[in-house]
Amino acid sequence: MTASRLKGKRAFITGAAGGIGSAIAHAFVSEGARVMLTDLDGTAVQALAGRVNDDAPGAAAFCAHDVTSESGWAEALETANAALGGIDVLVNNAGIWAVGSVEETDPSEWRRCMGVNLDSVYLGMRLAIPYLRESQPASIVNVSSVSGLVAGHNVAAYNTAKAGMWMLTKSTALHCAHRGDDIRANSIHPTFIETGLLQDVFARGGERQPLTDDQKGKLTRQIPLKRLCTVEDVAYAAIYLASDESRYMTASEIKLDGGLSAM
Ligand code: NAD
Repeated sequence: MTASRLKGKRAFITGAAGGIGSAIAHAFVSEGARVMLTDLDGTAVQALAGRVNDDAPGAAAFCAHDVTSESGWAEALETANAALGGIDVLVNNAGIWAVGSVEETDPSEWRRCMGVNLDSVYLGMRLAIPYLRESQPASIVNVSSVSGLVAGHNVAAYNTAKAGMWMLTKSTALHCAHRGDDIRANSIHPTFIETGLLQDVFARGGERQPLTDDQKGKLTRQIPLKRLCTVEDVAYAAIYLASDESRYMTASEIKLDGGLSAM
């Protein structure tokens, strides 16, 4: 039986070809949404759209989209608007990892991290709000990180970008509320999930490999719930924030950290 918590919703999802993005795509469609799937990797996002449409014919459109490009955002949003007949939900999920303390992070790496993880969210919300305003009630779901709430010693740029995203979400939510728009904005803050991004953390610039049991054990021991987060955990939270079930929630956040940040 198809569930229907997102019936009639039209969602724009960035970084959709990755681990979390593809889980959100499948979950949204299984709840009745139609989706525009976008990613820098056009081949991978096309393949994902094919798999989603195998399960739910016609539910997914796709386009290649670099979230750091303002003109790219304008084109992708217009493509989505035409394909879906409007946009009710924006999911800013695309992101990259960046390692290094403030001294170790060179200016080009700093700017790359800010461009993909923070400037993109500013551009996306700024350009998507006029579409969302046409489709109220609407929802913006920003995939930040527990790193946006708690600092680590060697992730200066990533910490800063994800914390900026957290505050930008609140600022945007208040802007919309003050205007009287029913456009909510909230962020999700997961801890470690074994996706390509986490594999990049351990690859340290080399090729991505599945995490070893030892690497997983070191991460798991930091989590009070004694397991890593999963892409499904994030998808469940995204469904809630995208749906009208969370209609009184804005300028807020969902922590998915197994208790980590409470210690
Ligand atoms: P992932 O590497 O599997 O997916 C990221 C996706 O973003 C990829 O498909 C990639 O092609 C895309 N992307 C990268 N740069 C882009 C650009 N310039 N324009 C458009 N797309 C681009 O990683 P993931 O774990 O699925 O990450 C998704 C989000 O979740 C990220 O924002 C990440 O910071 C956040 N997050 C991940 C974890 C984790 O442990 N995996 C934890 C907390 C938060």
